Amino acid sequence: MGKRAPSLKCLKMNLLFSNDKQGQLPNSWYAASVNQHKRYKTLQTRIRTDVCIIGGGFTGLSAALHLATAGVKVVLLDAHRPGWGASGRNGGQVANGQRVEQGRLEKEYGELAARSLWQIGQDAKELVGSLVSKYSINCDFKPGIVHACFSEAEVKEELKNTANLQKNYGHSDIHSLDKTQIQNIIGSKSYIGGSIDWRSAHLHPLNFALGLADSASDLGVEIFENSLVDKIAYGNKNIIHTKHGQVEANYTIIACNGYLGNLNKEISKKVMPINNFIAATEVLNDSLKKSILMKDIAVADSKFVVNYFRLSRDNRLLFGGGESYGYKFPKNLEATVRKPMLRIFPQLKSIKFDYTWGGTLAITMGRMPYLSRLNNSTYSASGYSGSGVAMATMAGKILCEDILGENGRFKTMSSIITPNFPGRGALRSPLLALAMTWYKMRDELGF
Ligand SMILES: Cc1cc2nc3c(=O)[nH]c(=O)nc-3n(C[C@H](O)[C@H](O)[C@H](O)COP(=O)(O)OP(=O)(O)OC[C@H]3O[C@@H](n4cnc5c(N)ncnc54)[C@H](O)[C@@H]3O)c2cc1C
Repeated sequence: MGKRAPSLKCLKMNLLFSNDKQGQLPNSWYAASVNQHKRYKTLQTRIRTDVCIIGGGFTGLSAALHLATAGVKVVLLDAHRPGWGASGRNGGQVANGQRVEQGRLEKEYGELAARSLWQIGQDAKELVGSLVSKYSINCDFKPGIVHACFSEAEVKEELKNTANLQKNYGHSDIHSLDKTQIQNIIGSKSYIGGSIDWRSAHLHPLNFALGLADSASDLGVEIFENSLVDKIAYGNKNIIHTKHGQVEANYTIIACNGYLGNLNKEISKKVMPINNFIAATEVLNDSLKKSILMKDIAVADSKFVVNYFRLSRDNRLLFGGGESYGYKFPKNLEATVRKPMLRIFPQLKSIKFDYTWGGTLAITMGRMPYLSRLNNSTYSASGYSGSGVAMATMAGKILCEDILGENGRFKTMSSIITPNFPGRGALRSPLLALAMTWYKMRDELGF
C-alpha cells in the first residue's frame, strides 16, 4: 500500500517545512554569495551501504568526509540539500572551546574531565581550519572573536575566565579588553569591557558546508538531496526509509539537530529546537563601516539572547539577534533583528536590510552537545547550543572515530549527562518557551 501524503497542517508543524520551501536555500546573504557547488539527485531506489547519515549539516558532512577518507562506504540523505539547515545560515563564529565556560565545566565535571573537554573544544577549532586548508574551501576564514560585556559584573566574570584560560590552560591568544580597548574595536557605547580571542575565527558557513559536501562527494560519498527520512526501522542493520527509496546500513548517524522533529523520540527528549535570526545590511560606506567595527573580527556579547555580528567581505554588517521558540518564525523578521541592532549601533538608524533570515538550532538542558550511541548500529550528535560551527564539525569526526574503533573522544563526549527537558511530548516546547522568555525579559530589564 502506498504511503499517505502528509497533511498541510503536519508539514507546518515540522520545522523542516514551516518556514522554508522544499530544497531552497533561505533569502540569506550567504545564499546570495555562495560558491559554485554540486547538486545531488533524490534517492529513488534501495541501496546498501556501510554508514547512512541523515542530515547534511556540519555534523553529517564532517562524519561523511572522515569516514570516506578512511575508505568507508557512505550514503548521506538530506530532506532539502547539504548546507540547508543551521550550518548554512549561522553567524559563522568558530568559537572558543565548549559552549559552557571552563570554570563551570571544572565545577560540574571535575578538573580532569574539564581539561579533556577543553582540548576537544580546541581541537574542534583546529579541525575547521585544517579542513578549510586541506580541501581549499574558499569561505573567508579569518581569526578573531571578541566577547563583549555590558556590565561591570560581566566584565569581572570575563576577566576571571580569561585569567583561568591563560594561566591554567596555556591559552596565550586570549586577552582582556578594558572599556577604551573594546570601544577602539567596536563603535558602541554599550560595551564596557570583555576579551579578544585570536585563536577563534569566523567564516562563511554556507560555503564551508558546501565545500565539505563537494569534498565528501569527490571521495565517493553518495549524497542525496530532497530525500526526507520518514522512518528508521531499527535492527542489526537499520533500514532508512524515504518517500522513494530505502537505505540498508550497518550503521546510521542521525545528524538532524534542530530539525529532528519526531524522527527519534530518545533524542527529542534531550535536544530542543530554537529559532534565531540574522540580517545583512545594505553595503556600508567606509566611514559608517569604521564607526561599527575597526577590525575584521566577529563579536558575540553577554546577553542571554546573544547579539553577534561581523562584517561581510562586501562591507555589510551581518547582525544576529532575537530568538523564538515555536514552529513559525516571527512575521516581521526585520523588526526582530533591527531592535537589538539599533540598541548597539544607533548610528545605523537609516540603514536598510538587504537580507533577513532565520534558522533553527538545538539546545540541551546543560548547553553541552549530546553525543550518543542509541543502539549497536545507531549514533547521534546534536544540541550544540549555539556553538556548533566547530563542535558539530568535531562531533562528526568523533562519531567516525568511534565507528572505526578509536573511541577515546567519543567516550568523553558521550559520558556527559544530558537530562531530558521537563514535560512530555507537545508540552515540552511551551515549557521551554516560558523559561526562555523569563531570561529574555532579564536581558531587556538588565538584571
Ligand atoms: C541563526 C543561527 C546562528 C548561529 N550562529 C552560530 C555561530 O555563530 N557559531 C556557532 O558555532 N554556531 C552557531 N549556530 C549553531 C550552528 O549553526 C549549529 O549548531 C550547527 O550548524 C549544527 O549543525 P548540524 O549539522 O548538527 O545541523 P544542521 O546544519 O541544522 O543540519 C541538519 C540537516 O538535517 C536535515 N534533516 C533533518 N531532518 C531530516 C530528515 N528527517 N531526513 C533527512 N534530512 C533531515 C536538514 O535538512 C538539515 O540540512 C547558529 C545557528 C543559527 C540557526
